[in-house]
Amino acid sequence: MPIPKAHYGGRHTVTLLPGAGIGPELMTYVKEVFSFAGVPVDFEDVDIDPNADDNVDLDYAITSIRRNGVALKGNIETRSTEAGVLSRNVALRNELDLYVNVLHCVSYPGVNSRHKNIDIVIVRQNTEGEYAMLEHESVKGVVESMKVITTTNSERVARYAFEYAKRNGRKKVTTVHKANIMKLSDGLFLETSKRVAKDYPDITHNNMIIDNTCMQLVSNPHQFDIVLTTNLYGAIVSNVVCGLLGGAGLLAGKNFGDHYTVFEPGTRNTGTGIAGKNIANPIAMLNAAVDMLRHLGHKHHAVLIQNAINKTINQGVHTRDLGGDATSRQVVDTIMKYIKQASD
Ligand code: ADP
Ligand code: MG
Repeated sequence: MPIPKAHYGGRHTVTLLPGAGIGPELMTYVKEVFSFAGVPVDFEDVDIDPNADDNVDLDYAITSIRRNGVALKGNIETRSTEAGVLSRNVALRNELDLYVNVLHCVSYPGVNSRHKNIDIVIVRQNTEGEYAMLEHESVKGVVESMKVITTTNSERVARYAFEYAKRNGRKKVTTVHKANIMKLSDGLFLETSKRVAKDYPDITHNNMIIDNTCMQLVSNPHQFDIVLTTNLYGAIVSNVVCGLLGGAGLLAGKNFGDHYTVFEPGTRNTGTGIAGKNIANPIAMLNAAVDMLRHLGHKHHAVLIQNAINKTINQGVHTRDLGGDATSRQVVDTIMKYIKQASD
């Protein structure tokens, strides 16, 4: 059973994790657009100090998400890359058992790109595989890293992909793997997806090796409908498809478990190099916020903001990453102009 979302007097409270880099400025835009559009959502802000040695802030963030059920998130920095210091982003997903990441990649007609009319859904296992964070140096100069694949999690994510296909009238699921080399681990993931596929005779199921998938995505992306894959391949494939559609600044991703949902930009970048310069593309985080509104059932506001975002992009108000010269501020102002027009 999903945990009820925090709901007081017709308003929802959601956890806001600005994270590092461009996260905080993008969250300012989300708040500005929400308040301009009169969205009935209140934020519980949780800052995570990247320099902290302990995980007190992170634990507080997790408690807040458990209470509210829903969060909007920027990328959290982890101070050290030493062994034993685990990624806080990974820890958060694992603690909340957010076992699936869904990235719906649809082309924007107004964005210049090599391929038009792409519509691919990436369903990625989100809590294990290569992200098990079990690495050690067994003897000096020899490092071992564990990749963990379980039947339970492979089955949950496969089931999610096929149920998603059924619900959304999708026709095909492609399992992406490297089972020719990783016969046991990827083999289990692949075999599990084949077994689950048998329960969905109306949906075509095929499979493809990760390396070929990257080539096929770049040369012939229209053959893909739903891509089902493990954690690291999912990260790679997500970045390839986002790159095809216009880069890191556009698309949003969703992290689901049985109880909690976390929304964030699709490629999960920190954007340290472009922070504080008024050049980051605010669209991916705003799209994540719109996804969150739909999830909460605030359809009117979701549609209002979504339409304003689409008009802004299709009118060519683009930040640098999309080849334009608009500032973040100008993009947000244009979105608010369209919200006002639709509300008048
Ligand atoms: P990571 O956090 O994985 O290190 P980066 O922050 O280096 O990733 O981001 C990867 C690339 O994507 C960088 O070139 C960064 O400037 C770009 N990028 C990420 N987010 C945005 C955004 N919202 N707008 C424009 N460019 C972005
Ligand atoms: Mg970086």
